Amino acid sequence: MSNLPSLLLGTRNAGKVREIEFIIGDIPWQIRSLREFENVGVAAETADTYADNAIAKAQFYARATGLCALADDSGLEVEALSGAPGVFSARYAGEDASDADRRVLLLSELAHVSNENRRARFVSVVAIAEPNGNVLNVSEGTCSGQITFAPRGDGGFGYDPLFVPDGFEQTFAELADSIKNRISHRARALLNAREFLTSKQPLLN
Ligand code: IMP
Repeated sequence: MSNLPSLLLGTRNAGKVREIEFIIGDIPWQIRSLREFENVGVAAETADTYADNAIAKAQFYARATGLCALADDSGLEVEALSGAPGVFSARYAGEDASDADRRVLLLSELAHVSNENRRARFVSVVAIAEPNGNVLNVSEGTCSGQITFAPRGDGGFGYDPLFVPDGFEQTFAELADSIKNRISHRARALLNAREFLTSKQPLLN
């Protein structure tokens, strides 16, 4: 057994787990997964801000497992849609829809929108909470870019095949993981969370 304090990743989204482990896998905490806690349910996502949802998820999983938990709430904000789907990105095409359904809906909403008007940004808010509900850290990151006219690439997850980050020509789903995980909204939020976790680790142990 490791002497490091445990940090539970409060998400069952395999794409998020992979990215979070890639970005903060080397911090002085033992990263634990919800796969160890099959009886823990799913945190509600009913707030209308990323921060409130991220905090609610981190608190839910920390209370349910007795471990410090880190959770991310994220979304894609499209200028031509007045910021939609935004904080409702996961529920954009209904509760039971797939990532592919959401991409089809987004492209159809933008069918008549020209290239110059397809600006968008991803937002991620990462929260860390203790089992007693105390919130230790909340960090936000954004990544701006452009929505394509058709999906491109097999990497990443969610809306990645539709999003070309500024400074690149490929979508997040075409770029190497190492590039997405350096420039993404989640990477930027986690940079701050990483600083917190690295400096506070001895105090919480
Ligand atoms: P939530 O954070 O679980 O509410 O999910 C937000 C929605 O945005 C989901 O549909 C995700 O698939 C999508 N999403 C979040 N982060 C990313 C990303 O990095 N790339 C592509 N889609 C994302």
